[in-house]
Amino acid sequence: MENKIFVFGHQKPDTDTIASSIVLANLQTALGKNATAYKLGNVNKETAYALKTFEVEEPQTLNEVDENCDVMLVDHNEFAQSVNGVEKSNIKMVVDHHKIKFETKEPLFYIAEPLGCTASILYKLYKQNDVEISKPMAGLMLSAIISDTLLFKSPTCTDEDKKIAEKLAKIADVDVDVYGKEMLKAGTDISEFTPYQVINIDSKEFSDKNARFEISQVNAVDLDSVFSRQSELEDAIQKEIKEKNLDFYMFAATDILNANSKIIAIGNKANTVEKAFGVTLNNNTAMLDNVVSRKKQMLPNILNNLD
Ligand code: MG
Ligand code: MG
Ligand code: MG
Repeated sequence: MENKIFVFGHQKPDTDTIASSIVLANLQTALGKNATAYKLGNVNKETAYALKTFEVEEPQTLNEVDENCDVMLVDHNEFAQSVNGVEKSNIKMVVDHHKIKFETKEPLFYIAEPLGCTASILYKLYKQNDVEISKPMAGLMLSAIISDTLLFKSPTCTDEDKKIAEKLAKIADVDVDVYGKEMLKAGTDISEFTPYQVINIDSKEFSDKNARFEISQVNAVDLDSVFSRQSELEDAIQKEIKEKNLDFYMFAATDILNANSKIIAIGNKANTVEKAFGVTLNNNTAMLDNVVSRKKQMLPNILNNLD
C-alpha cells in the first residue's frame, strides 16, 4: 500500500482551506492515491454552513507531521501558517493562490495560479485529469469561491473564478446569489465569541523588513455591532501584540454587503497602516473604502509602506 498522504490547508481554516483539503483528497483518491483531508483548527460558522448544506463531514484535526509523513498543502505555502513539523515532512504537492514564500529540498508538484480561490484551481485539475465532479464536491468548491471572492466582489476575483462558479452551481444545483448570501451571513455571527476568539477567526501573521505584524479579518453585515465591542477587542489585540512581540496589529471588519472595511490598528508601527491606506487613525480606527481583500489590498499596501 502506498504511503498515506495528509492533505491540509492553513491554520485558522477558512472555507477555501477546508473545502480544498477535502476536494484535493477526493481527487487524489479518484486517481488511486491514499489521501485524507485534515484541518488544523476549528471550522468557522460559514464553513460549517457549507459542509452541512452539501452533507460533507468535517475533516479530523491534525496537530503535527514528521519526516515520515507525505503531505499536500492547499491554500497556503508559508510554513508559519502550516502544521507543526511541515518543514521536515515530504511535501508532495502544493495547490495555492497566494504569494510564494517556500523552499523544499525535494522536487514536487507546485500548482499556483493567481485565481480568486484554490478551489478554482482544483476544478481545473479535475478537468485535466478527466475526473467527474460530484454534487458535494461541486458544492464545496462553489462555497470556497464565494467565500474567497466575497460573492465575486473582491478584486481577487477573476473572470475564470466566475465562470467556474457558474459551472459548479449547476452541478451543485443551487442559486449562487441566494446560497452565497446565506453562506456568508452564517459566518458573520460573532455574538457568542470572546474578543480573543473574534480576532482569531481569520488572522495571519506576516514578517518582512524586520517588521512582524498580524492582519485579522472578520466578515460583517453590521459594522456598528462589531465596533460596539471595540474596547474589549483592543484589549485582546494588545495581549497578542505583547505575546507575539508584534510591531503592529490590524483588525479589519469587512462589510460584505457594501464592500468596505473598518479597521482597528494598534502597535508601535501602526502608522504603517496610515501610510498604507492614506488614512488617519482616529481612536485607533479608520474606514477603508472599497478595501475587502487582505491578499490583494491590505497586505501589499502594508508591505509597500514598511520602513
Ligand atoms: Mg484561505
Ligand atoms: Mg484561499
Ligand atoms: Mg481568506
